[in-house]
Amino acid sequence: MNFAEIKALDAQYVLQTYGRNQIAIDHGKGATLWDTEGKEYVDFTSGIGVCSLGYANEKWAKAIYDQAMKLGHISNLFYTEPYVRLASKLVPAAGMAAVFFGNSGAEANEGMIKTARKYSHDKYGQGRSTIITLNHSFHGRTITTLKATGQDHYHENFYPFPEGFRYADANDMDSLLSVAGDDVCGVMMEMIQGEGGVNPLNKDYVQAVAKLCQERNWLLLIDEVQTGIGRTGTLFAYQQFGVQPDIVSFAKGIAGGLPFGGFLTNEKCRRVLGAGDHGSTFGGNPMASAAGCVVMDTLTPDFLQEVQKKGEYLRKGIEALHSPYVSGIRGMGLMIGVGVQGMKHSELRDKLMAEGLLALTAGSDTLRLLPPLVISQEEMDKGLSIMAKVMK
Ligand SMILES: *Cc1c(COP(=O)(O)O)cnc(C)c1O
Repeated sequence: MNFAEIKALDAQYVLQTYGRNQIAIDHGKGATLWDTEGKEYVDFTSGIGVCSLGYANEKWAKAIYDQAMKLGHISNLFYTEPYVRLASKLVPAAGMAAVFFGNSGAEANEGMIKTARKYSHDKYGQGRSTIITLNHSFHGRTITTLKATGQDHYHENFYPFPEGFRYADANDMDSLLSVAGDDVCGVMMEMIQGEGGVNPLNKDYVQAVAKLCQERNWLLLIDEVQTGIGRTGTLFAYQQFGVQPDIVSFAKGIAGGLPFGGFLTNEKCRRVLGAGDHGSTFGGNPMASAAGCVVMDTLTPDFLQEVQKKGEYLRKGIEALHSPYVSGIRGMGLMIGVGVQGMKHSELRDKLMAEGLLALTAGSDTLRLLPPLVISQEEMDKGLSIMAKVMK
């Protein structure tokens, strides 16, 4: 099908919930994509931080194929090897105690919220179930994770929402303390707010929050759905903030493109959820777990250092453009936010796309770059030269 045919069928048969780019992607290799009309693009999106190993990665594809030919799915009423293999790679590398596997970021955060509330209920009884989240955060699109999301415009259309969330300003301890109370069981935050505009938290602030959580026995819940699995140059971003969460959620990059997510708990929380308390039909699916093992095996210390270097290279390259449209550059590793001025962020994204570079937007004025972690020097340079052409 060509783009016009695909677009017509989408308009006729599919709910119009996305503001889509006006191209249809057909295939890719590494960090390069081609649309249905044969046009080539350098990809600075990875889906949205999902395709950590790029496109058509042979080890990844073979692991999925081999597992599909062996056992594509079986219920969680049985043990299987792939999910325990993945768990035994992920849990020690994160410095955590145990993992739950689901399918998406929102589902991961739901599980994290359930665990925090049950922990508090088991220990203190009723009335201590509020979770503090940050303004400009994003935690997902289920009813509860929408409520957890600290952006008012997400709280308008889908009443009634569950209770038990309060919001504080990021990087502001006074704001956090002003919404603290006896009813709080945890604080939930992203180390770098992704959808909110690639806003990194300050290290001092994160450490102060972690200390407060310890003092009050609140759980520290870190949403690493976007920042996790090597994106920022360490397995998880919190590893660069000098804190250890009680629970951490992950999703996007874990299986390199298959739907997969979950959360890790520390020793303190590992027995909160027991048989029957939580579950997922597809969670820990053998093919997705096999893909996740390939991703985890790829994230060696050397590879992660490369991610940091590539991130620095791109940030310096963008700085060196001295573009009048750039107001600032933020982020860590291959999670980069470029503040846009003098043009709408979406207009800049469209102009880059027309010249053959795919990028994302975030917040109200940010161009967000999440290239595949395996992006090559040549692909980075190609992307930078397109940025130079459009933004100088
Ligand atoms: C994308 C994202 C989510 C939601 O993930 P889904 O897989 O779309 O449900 C939650 N939290 C953060 C930080 C995200 O970036």
